Amino acid sequence: MRFIYFAFVLILVFACKEKVTVDTLEPKELEAIEEGTLVHGEYSGTEPTTPEETEFNEPVPPVVNPQDPIKGAPSDAIVLFNGGNLDNWISSRDSTAAKWIVNNDGSMTVNNKTGDIQTVQNFGSMQLHLEWKSPSEIQGKGQSRGNSGVFLQGLYEVQILDNNDNDTYVNGQVGSIYKQHTPLAMASVPTGEWNTYDIIYHAPEFDEDGNKIKSGTVTVMHNGILLQDNVEIKGTTPYIGWPKNPAHGKGPVKLQDHGDNSRVSYRNIWVREL
Ligand code: MG
Repeated sequence: MRFIYFAFVLILVFACKEKVTVDTLEPKELEAIEEGTLVHGEYSGTEPTTPEETEFNEPVPPVVNPQDPIKGAPSDAIVLFNGGNLDNWISSRDSTAAKWIVNNDGSMTVNNKTGDIQTVQNFGSMQLHLEWKSPSEIQGKGQSRGNSGVFLQGLYEVQILDNNDNDTYVNGQVGSIYKQHTPLAMASVPTGEWNTYDIIYHAPEFDEDGNKIKSGTVTVMHNGILLQDNVEIKGTTPYIGWPKNPAHGKGPVKLQDHGDNSRVSYRNIWVREL
């Protein structure tokens, strides 16, 4: 009886494997397999003897203009802010119009104690670009000097801080995943000049019962320097307490008003959904 059961399971496994393989193959790959030269996703079988056997011609990646003249961002990006107005942003407190200051130079600045602002649109996994600047007039120290931050899906903070000649706890310094991951380097430009953040974010996944089944991950480049190398997000990034893992779907990009006259400015913010 046990033998019959195992035989049945074996047949089922092979049947499923065959179906999945055939359904997901490109015609060229299928042809290669039939010729015994290539197995989909694996480098096995008979060693290819010509360069063409390991060259694919589709699917063709889409063309993206990295400096679209109209958008001022990649041609396939969603522009969240490039000066002018805060139409794509709302107050995180009460969803009313964002009350931060729009400047004449295409930037915006935190309006002290008006609260965080977040995008109207929600996002899942994404590539996020933004530029930020600490105020040139230095004020405060430690976490109270030019503190802001970008929250991925409104929950997970990549720290923004004026750390120039201003030490603080390292897992809260500029480019940290706040209180979770110390950055690999400190790569700020001089205070008062524009920094870039380029962030690759993969959202966490949750099952039907709300349990996290896959952690989010994040990579952060600061002025082209790698600070966070595909690190695992352990949960929310509170000032006090452990990370929490509430189930959620897509969420906004949120920018922090730290509430201590941080005066951090932002410009050229765009997203490419992944
Ligand atoms: Mg912060």
